[in-house]
Amino acid sequence: MASIRLGCIADDFTGATDLANNLVRAGMRVVQTIGIPAGPLAADVDCVVVALKSRTIAPADAIAQSLAALSWLQAQGAEQIYFKYCSTFDSTAAGNIGPVAEALMQAMGTDFTIATPAFPDNKRTVFKGYLFVGDVLLDESGMQNHPLTPMTDPNLVRVLQSQSTKQVGLIDHAVVARGADAVTARIAELRAQGFGMAVVDAVSNDDLLRMGPALAALPLLTAGSGVAIGLPANFGIAPSAQASQLPAAGGLRAVVSGSCSLATNRQVMNFIQSGRPAMAIDPLRIAAGVDVTAEVLAWAVPLLQDGPVLVYSTAESGAIKAVQARLGVEEAGAMVERTIAAIARGLVEAGVRQLVVAGGETSGACVQALGVTQMQIGPQIDPGVPWTHVLADAAGGAGVHVTLKSGNFGTDDFFTKAFGVLA
Ligand code: ADP
Repeated sequence: MASIRLGCIADDFTGATDLANNLVRAGMRVVQTIGIPAGPLAADVDCVVVALKSRTIAPADAIAQSLAALSWLQAQGAEQIYFKYCSTFDSTAAGNIGPVAEALMQAMGTDFTIATPAFPDNKRTVFKGYLFVGDVLLDESGMQNHPLTPMTDPNLVRVLQSQSTKQVGLIDHAVVARGADAVTARIAELRAQGFGMAVVDAVSNDDLLRMGPALAALPLLTAGSGVAIGLPANFGIAPSAQASQLPAAGGLRAVVSGSCSLATNRQVMNFIQSGRPAMAIDPLRIAAGVDVTAEVLAWAVPLLQDGPVLVYSTAESGAIKAVQARLGVEEAGAMVERTIAAIARGLVEAGVRQLVVAGGETSGACVQALGVTQMQIGPQIDPGVPWTHVLADAAGGAGVHVTLKSGNFGTDDFFTKAFGVLA
């Protein structure tokens, strides 16, 4: 098996897919793994993205998992390591961006790395070290109210410094605008002054592409998914259609949706209005002990021959609040996730080989229920959402095409458009 060039460690699941998607578009063949694989990689690719769930866990646990991922990636031959976090720099007061970055640096024996969540395609830009989300600063973007990772300071040098023992500097836009040589010189200067990390400004894809060559010499990079667009060229890899090529798709088609975002509500409505068969799941009936999974499968399986079906718990906020008031927020969520995951498994056992899953948490539950550990990343359906090809226990180890759509991603016709992309 050929060894990989770039090894990535992502602090959450859909963030890992977002990064993998950017790398594929820049020409790399990429596999995303769910957690750290037990054995060696079973595919010939340029890059592996190991998806952890380490964003909000205790820093010591995040460090331990990230170091284990590092060891596995190094064993696969990775020449450079990329620690991927959210484009809104999601972290708790204790970390985990700073502590994980420092632990990786120490393990790799390197004294300098960069940090930048800039992702201009998704309107995340960094200027003078300040992170903008669209037209506003991070702490006015809604992220200041996030339940787990409230971001109340838009100055990333300050935020990272508060989580790090190393001195944090800035490579500002005036330097980035002058190109890779200027960035290289600035890195040397910061290093000589004793800085261990630097936030890097970027307000456009041109900035990210310009800085790319200057990053080739750093063993470790830490960033959102944006920096990835400038890296494949460092390995002599150019964008190509081959990078996103998956085995030919066949088999039956289905959509399962546990996301309740505004976009997903529109996508469910669009699918129903197109006249295709759809069945809603009622959480209160699950709670009452009805075997909803069996009911849904009895309805869906005979219809699959005629085209895709949709099974959804997607509802509007009023209905969800009512269910949550009866069952509790976490219990309702976990119950619905378990049911949708069991339905997804039943559908694949019945011959579904093209599966759309909507919802971040829902995706995690489905991937687990299907017995998937590695996903080859294919063509993009909408920004941040590619098709993938997986080997699923639920399909007797055979291949299934799966796409995992988080919350607000995708156009209104996503549930029908997705199958067209595979065809
Ligand atoms: P998103 O990516 O949109 O955030 P997730 O799948 O991550 O979607 O989260 C949606 C959560 O809402 C899941 O825990 C899911 O089980 C739960 N959920 C889905 N439908 C309902 C419903 N009708 N009532 C209550 N909770 C629901």
